[in-house]
Amino acid sequence: MEILLSKRLIKAHGTNNPARIASELKLVVLYEDLGENIWGYYTCIRRIPVIHVNSRLEGFAVIYALAHELGHHFLHQGINTPFLRRSTLFSVDRIEREANRFALHLLIGDAEPEPEETKCHFLKRCGIPEEFHIFY
Ligand SMILES: [Zn+2]
Repeated sequence: MEILLSKRLIKAHGTNNPARIASELKLVVLYEDLGENIWGYYTCIRRIPVIHVNSRLEGFAVIYALAHELGHHFLHQGINTPFLRRSTLFSVDRIEREANRFALHLLIGDAEPEPEETKCHFLKRCGIPEEFHIFY
């Protein structure tokens, strides 16, 4: 489900960049100072979906948080999703696992593993840091 959704979105928008997909969908993305531990969260109040991303994040974490919250937008509309925190990133919670799986597959994009390429090598080639490989 999450993998299929990420592939459909990449095809429909011609990009796997979550910021560009969100902007094409006219989704509001707010960059706010959320302190040291929260990466982002998703709200849908009076039918207005908003992705909140911590403005303190840098590098891969920014794009990852966006992709994760975009996953909630499609997969968990109407559900109060928990804050994405560094400490709960590897949560066993079902909706968190689904959003993480979606995010990882979106960020992999159209890349495919080469024959005999290890999963680790493939994901590194896609720019995915090692700690996120468990979502593959
Ligand atoms: Zn989440």
